[in-house]
Amino acid sequence: GSSRFSTAVATEEEPITPPVQIDYTQLLINGRFVDAASGKTFPTLDPRTGDVIAHVAEGEAEDINRAVSAARKAFDEGPWPKMTPYERSCILFRFADLLEKHCSEIAALESWDNGKPYEQAANVEIPMVIRVFRYYAGWADKIHGLTVPADGLHHVQTLHEPIGVAGQIIPWNFPLLLYGWKVGPALACGNTIVLKTAEQTPLSALYASKLLYEAGLPPGVLNVVSGFGPTAGAALSSHMDVDKLAFTGSTGTGKIVLGLAAKSNLKPVTLELGGKSPFIVCEDADVDKAVELSHTALFYNQGQSCCSGSRTFVHESIYDEFIEKAKARALKRVVGDPFKKGVEQGPQIDSQQFNKILGYIKSGIEAGATLEAGGEKFSSKGYYIQPTVFSNVHDNMLIAKEEIFGPVQSILKFKDLDEVIRRANATHYGLAAGIFTQNLDTANTLTRALRVGTVWINCFFVFDAAIPFGGRKMSGHGREKGIYGLSNYMQVKAVVTPLKNPAWL
Ligand code: NAD
Repeated sequence: GSSRFSTAVATEEEPITPPVQIDYTQLLINGRFVDAASGKTFPTLDPRTGDVIAHVAEGEAEDINRAVSAARKAFDEGPWPKMTPYERSCILFRFADLLEKHCSEIAALESWDNGKPYEQAANVEIPMVIRVFRYYAGWADKIHGLTVPADGLHHVQTLHEPIGVAGQIIPWNFPLLLYGWKVGPALACGNTIVLKTAEQTPLSALYASKLLYEAGLPPGVLNVVSGFGPTAGAALSSHMDVDKLAFTGSTGTGKIVLGLAAKSNLKPVTLELGGKSPFIVCEDADVDKAVELSHTALFYNQGQSCCSGSRTFVHESIYDEFIEKAKARALKRVVGDPFKKGVEQGPQIDSQQFNKILGYIKSGIEAGATLEAGGEKFSSKGYYIQPTVFSNVHDNMLIAKEEIFGPVQSILKFKDLDEVIRRANATHYGLAAGIFTQNLDTANTLTRALRVGTVWINCFFVFDAAIPFGGRKMSGHGREKGIYGLSNYMQVKAVVTPLKNPAWL
C-alpha cells in the first residue's frame, strides 16, 4: 500500500438526487419573498458537477436599500426592540424547534449547495445551529446592566441596549452555522438585521429564515439578500443607516469592508477572517490519536475551515512514524458524492477554489516538499480533489505560509518548544492552535505563548455555542458565540442621577 493513489479511484457515478426541493430563491425583505429590483437572477451551482441547482434573485445596491429601510423601520417603529425580552426568547426557542423539525431538508440544501457530506451537515452542523439559537434564546431575557458606585454623589446605572440595524456578511464554507453565530446574538439583543449570504451558497439561509418568520418574527426584523460582494456586500458595508457590521470571510475582503465602514458612518465592525493555524504534536503525544486528530483538523469540510490545523508541526523524534501514519490515514479517506453514506469528503466549493488548491499543490512540489499522498483532482466531473499530504515542508514555502483552504496537509518538523513557539507565531494570522501532549507543563507553556484566539489541547474543532471564537492579528477582531458574542450587538448607556440625600454616605 505505498501508492499515493491506492484509494483515490475516480468516482464517475451519476450524482445522487438530493432529498429536498428548492422552494425559496427570492430575496426576503420585510417578511416577504420578492424579486430583485432589477429582476436579475444568478445561478447557484452543484459542486459535484458544476451544473445549475437553481436561479436565485440577485440583490444589488437598490435591494440593500430596500432591506435596510425595512430593518430600520422594524427597529425604529416596530415591536421587536420594545417587546419583552421573554417574548423574543420564546420566538427564538420556537425557531430552534422548527429547525430541528426540518433538519433533514436544511441539511440537504446545505450539502447540495456547498458539497459537504450530508451526514456532516445533518449530524454535526445543523444541530450546532439549533444549539446556538437555544443558547442565545436563553440569553435574551438575561441581558442587563450594572449599578455603579461611582463618586457616591450620583446613582449610576448602565443600560444594555441593542445597537440598531446590523449588517451581516457571511461566506460559503459553513453557510448556516455562520448564519447562527451572527443572527442568534443579534436577535437576542433586540437588533434588526440585513444579512448578505455568500453567492455560492444562498439556499439554506432562505429556508431557515422562512422558519424564523413562522416562529413569530415581526416583519422586517431579519432581511436576507442573496448577491455578490462588490455589489450587495459593498452597499451594505457602506450604508449610512446600518449601525453595525459583522463580517466573516477572507482577510482581503475584511480590509475592504472595514474601509467602507470607515468611509461611511464609522459603524463598528467585527471581523472573522482567515488563518494558518498550527497543530503541534509534541514528543510525548500518543501518535495514533494525534494522527487521527490532525487529519480531522485539516480535512474536515474538504479543508475549507478558517481555523483548520493547516501547519502540522511534529517533533523530530516521532516525525517518520507520524508521516507514515498520516499518509495511510489520508489514503483511507472516503471521497465521493456527499449524499452517499459514509463519505467523509465531497467536492470543493467551486472551480475557482479547485484551481487555486491545485495551484498550491503544484507550488509545494516545485518548492521541494515531498508529496506523500494525493496531489491530483479526483474525478472528471465536479471539484473533487484527492486528500493530499506533504512532508518535508519548510516555513518559507507558500503551502506553509498561505491559506490553501483545501484538503492539503503540510507537515513540518521541529526540535524544541522555544523553536516551535517562534515558528507557530511567525504568521500574520492568529486564529487557533492545536496542542497534542500528555505533559501539563508543555501544554501550559504553549497555551500561554501562542498568539491565537482559541487553543485546543488534545482536541480540535470543539465549537459549543458557549465558547467564544475569533482571531488575533490579521485573523480579525471581536469574538462570536458565548457571552462575548453578545457584546457585539449591544451598546452601553450610562444613566446618571444625583442622590438627593447623600448624608448617609
Ligand atoms: P470572501 O471574503 O471572498 O467572501 C466572504 C463574503 O464577503 C461573501 O459573502 C462575499 O460575497 C462577500 N464579499 C466579497 N467581496 C466583497 C466586497 N467587496 N464588499 C463586501 N462584501 C464582499 O471569502 P470566501 O473566499 O468566500 O471565504 C473563504 C474565506 O473566509 C477564507 O479565507 C476563510 O478563512 C474565511 N473564513 C473565516 C472564518 C472565521 O470565522 N474566521 C469563517 C469562515 C471563513
